[in-house]
Amino acid sequence: MLLEGKVAVITGGTRGIGFAIAKGMLAEGAKVVVCGSRQETADKAVRAILDEDPDAPIKGAAPDLTVEAEIQELLDEVRRDWGSIDIMVNNAGISQRTPLVDYTPEEFEKVMDINVKSVFNGCQAAARIMVDQGTGGVILNTSSMVGTYGQPSGVGYPTSKFAVNGMTKSLARELGKHQIRVNAVAPGVTATDMLTALPEELVQRISSTIPLGRPGQPEEVANAYVFLASDRASYITGAVLPVDGATQV
Ligand code: NAD
Repeated sequence: MLLEGKVAVITGGTRGIGFAIAKGMLAEGAKVVVCGSRQETADKAVRAILDEDPDAPIKGAAPDLTVEAEIQELLDEVRRDWGSIDIMVNNAGISQRTPLVDYTPEEFEKVMDINVKSVFNGCQAAARIMVDQGTGGVILNTSSMVGTYGQPSGVGYPTSKFAVNGMTKSLARELGKHQIRVNAVAPGVTATDMLTALPEELVQRISSTIPLGRPGQPEEVANAYVFLASDRASYITGAVLPVDGATQV
């Protein structure tokens, strides 16, 4: 198995892409902690996994990702219980489509808090442990295709994903000497709650621009994370891997 004996923490792991990553990593032999915004949603995700496999090594948690100390505390606890932190997936994110003239400072701050500050916090807390362990590690951040193309409304969201790309490439350079690889995955339109929250007309319009003719499934996106977390990707760092059916908007 590709991730035998590895310990992975996944933010935004309770549904959508993050939940598919959790399942994909468990299937490859990893122990997994899924983080959600509330303990109940984390518990629900854990139960769904345990219903399928009662022996699955999975835990749920709900740290406030915008508070660095809460992520650090969780990772320290996981390391104490399971021996290491080998894979950190900073995947939690929120979308925002408000036009610029109506954008409130609070909306902008909220997107930056979850999509950028939380990713920074996760990278920092994981890197501290990985450096201390001395055995390297893998950090994976969730970007988006809008982190390449921008989007025509809701400027905070693409701005946050451009920031994730910059953080990923910079940390790959900073942490390479510790054998910590840092990569991002940039999903295109993916069939999760984030997509179903959009107006159907908009989803149709977006889908028509995808050369593969359909949105991606969360499992198809998750496969990229499993690969990048594994030794099969041992010389890949600083990459932003598009998983978008060749969408060009
Ligand atoms: P989703 O809405 O299905 O899941 C979002 C996850 O983030 C949930 O687990 C939720 O608990 C967590 N989350 C949200 N706000 C949080 C908060 N304040 N604190 C802690 N956790 C919080 O979304 P998804 O589509 O699976 O998106 C996951 C990632 O993929 C996001 O970073 C998103 O920007 C990115 N993405 C999604 C798409 C898409 O089409 N679905 C495309 C490109 C990028």
